This record gives sequence, structure tokens and C-alpha cells, in this order.
Amino acid sequence: MFNDVCPYCAGNSTVQLAESEEYYDELAMVSHPVNVHAACDDCAWFLYANVGALLVFEPPVYAFIKERGVDVWDKYVWAAAVDHEVTSVRWDPQRVDGVFRLSGDELRYVLDENLRMLEYEIHPGD
Ligand SMILES: [Zn+2]
Repeated sequence: MFNDVCPYCAGNSTVQLAESEEYYDELAMVSHPVNVHAACDDCAWFLYANVGALLVFEPPVYAFIKERGVDVWDKYVWAAAVDHEVTSVRWDPQRVDGVFRLSGDELRYVLDENLRMLEYEIHPGD
């Protein structure tokens, strides 16, 4: 779904940022300033995720986590093995800044308007 392909009908899906909405409370999603909404262009399937879940298998993020001894394939995606925070959202052009924290180190990233990783930096802890 988040790679632009619907898993149910193989149609195209559109992935975009979603600002907090009232029903997020019921879904326990309110802790994130923005979430990600994916909707199929062809069938009615849609789903929400937080930005951290969207990025955890991106190569730089996956490597950052793996190098610090955590295999995300061993964990359920909802088990918070890694601290993640969206630190800033800008809308024109759309940019999302965020940070993953693990073992005292940080991976800070910027996402572009297509939610692709525009840049990232790893900041070792003290
Ligand atoms: Zn579909």
C-alpha cells in the first residue's frame, strides 16, 4: 500500500499525509502530529499508519536500527522497539522532519512531498 500498489486489487494507491482528525482518538493515533493515509485509486481499500511505520523498512532507517542490534522483522510493527518522533511539518512545499532514536544515537530525516526520504543524517550520541 505504501509503495503505491494496492495489495488487494494491484491498482495504484495514493499515499499522503493526514492531519489529526477526531476519530484518531479512538484509534490511539493522536500522539502523532500527522499520520500517513494510503487509499487505493481503484477499489475502496485504505489504511492509516504513523510516519515511523512508513519508514522503518527504508534502507537508511532499517540499517540504522539493525546496526544497533534490533531486527525489526523480529518485532510486531506496533511494538515500539525504536523511539520515533515527527519534529516538524511544513506544507508549502510539503516537508516532514523526524527523528529515530536508538542506543543514544539519532537518525534525523526530511521527507519530500511524495513522502520519500529527501535527506538524512546520523548523529551519534555522547
Ligand atoms: Zn485496490
